[in-house]
Amino acid sequence: MEKELVVVGIETTAHTFGVSVLRGRQVLSNEKKVFTTEEGGMIPSKVADHHVEACDKIFGLALEKAGVSVGDISLIAFSNSPGIGHSLRIGAVFARSIALLLDKPLIPVNHCIAHLEIGRLLTNAEDPVLLYASGANTQVIAFESGKYRVFGETLDIGIGNFLDSFGRALGLGFPAGPRIEELARNGKNLISLPYTVKGMDVSFGGLLTNLKSKIKSGEYSKEDLCYSVQEHVFAMLVEVTERALAHTGKKEVVLGGGVACNKRLQEMSRIMCEERDAKSFCPENQFLVDNAAMIAWTGYLKYSAGDKGLLKDTGIDPYERTDDVEILYR
Ligand code: AMP
Ligand code: MG
Repeated sequence: MEKELVVVGIETTAHTFGVSVLRGRQVLSNEKKVFTTEEGGMIPSKVADHHVEACDKIFGLALEKAGVSVGDISLIAFSNSPGIGHSLRIGAVFARSIALLLDKPLIPVNHCIAHLEIGRLLTNAEDPVLLYASGANTQVIAFESGKYRVFGETLDIGIGNFLDSFGRALGLGFPAGPRIEELARNGKNLISLPYTVKGMDVSFGGLLTNLKSKIKSGEYSKEDLCYSVQEHVFAMLVEVTERALAHTGKKEVVLGGGVACNKRLQEMSRIMCEERDAKSFCPENQFLVDNAAMIAWTGYLKYSAGDKGLLKDTGIDPYERTDDVEILYR
């Protein structure tokens, strides 16, 4: 029997520096360190410093937990798009250095597509629609006519950034998503809020302005606000996901992104799917948030389909669109 490839994945599109080791389809380790702040958001140069600081430790830890040594590595994959330029650059330099030192192929991977591929691997969904709900990204993606295509997306900010801004206005810490979920459980009254679905797209900017004035008025409890926000924005996401199912004729949904850790969003997706005879899948949290296992796995798929992994093809692309990517393995 052919020996399974040992693949190292490296994720650095935004706040997370992650390294994962796979042996074939099996995830042996999935380590990460996440840039956080006490106050305020991500300053790109600070995130880059964080990644430089973290890289060798996380790499060492991932190999140790996987029980492999550098000599066992057959292939390296890294996230080259899309994301924050500063962060991507650190990952690219680190990944190229290892590839050069070990003289192994290096495969560039699109981060958004990787969220979908890890969902397929871990849930056995075959041809799903991905609802990708993270800090900066909100997209509904599916495979159609040879490519992954974006069927719907946010017209302004990502759902996670929206929740974090709303949370900041409420005086919750960062990231606010988990706190909002907790408070929402004790909400009793559904407050009517702007609900913005335009065709297949969503938008959160107007809702955020509306909420800020509601918070200022002091008329509403935090619990009711959180509950009402979740009911509205998750319904928007699930509505456009359902429309993508109807349009493509697909029968599976896979969730991805940090916001997909939310149990109410998972429940709403499940209910929508049950009602239309489809299935909603959700990998465990460590594979929903940004992670390097998804990069390793997608790199493996590309390599298996003939990607040579040449260094000259490993430039970063902070703005790459999902449907710009050539898919040879499906
Ligand atoms: P990501 O960009 O994929 O790492 O996801 C980060 C985003 O997920 C942040 O905006 C968090 O506030 C959000 N998030 C994490 N956990 C939850 C949760 N349980 N409910 C809602 N949002 C969450
Ligand atoms: Mg992500």
